[in-house]
Amino acid sequence: MTYFLLSITNTCNKSCAYCVVKPWLNNPEYPDKATAEDFIAFLEKEMQPGDAVELTGGEPTLFPGFMKLLQWLKVHQAKVILRTNGAFLNGWRASYPDMVVVLARHDSDDAYMDERKGCLFPQDLVLETVEDHLKQTEQDKPIFVNNETSPLTQHPFTKMFHITNDGKVRFMSCCKEAMGTIWDYVPRKYHCCHNCPFALGAWNLIARIK
Ligand code: SF4
Repeated sequence: MTYFLLSITNTCNKSCAYCVVKPWLNNPEYPDKATAEDFIAFLEKEMQPGDAVELTGGEPTLFPGFMKLLQWLKVHQAKVILRTNGAFLNGWRASYPDMVVVLARHDSDDAYMDERKGCLFPQDLVLETVEDHLKQTEQDKPIFVNNETSPLTQHPFTKMFHITNDGKVRFMSCCKEAMGTIWDYVPRKYHCCHNCPFALGAWNLIARIK
């Protein structure tokens, strides 16, 4: 099973003080270069039905090709994680049962959150607050803690990719080796860490999908 972490856009409608991608966010020096078609062309080479695809940003629902990418993932039977502040979250969520949404409040008010919570499935999570000791402070150093919402200590992934909105391909943060871009990527062999915090976090979310 393969896990794809796709940071599809640097655009966001918020500017949270603790945002780990703040230096790139809404910054004209770091525009989005990869389109939905580009991400799809890469996935066509590497993704199998049942693989896990996490969509993040920035705010992924503001990516112009967001619905096109999501529909392609549905047709190709991916298990999807959507991390969102709810910017464009409404009735369309009902058409994507093989997805778990992580809706973060950030500074949104109750009326905003109540409207979006009404669209969620039982497997979805609402992050009202993040305790200080659980806040990620560096982009490549996620924090994974076992608790009642993340009980699983092993993941099944044998390959993992992190692809950024500029089209760069990485084998997660532990690999410093340059892997090119989605436009010139050549499939190759990898190892995979069993205790990767990205993968453990993703697997605990995917496991919520019934
Ligand atoms: S909503 Fe998310 S991506 Fe946007 S500024 Fe806040 S933490 Fe960063």
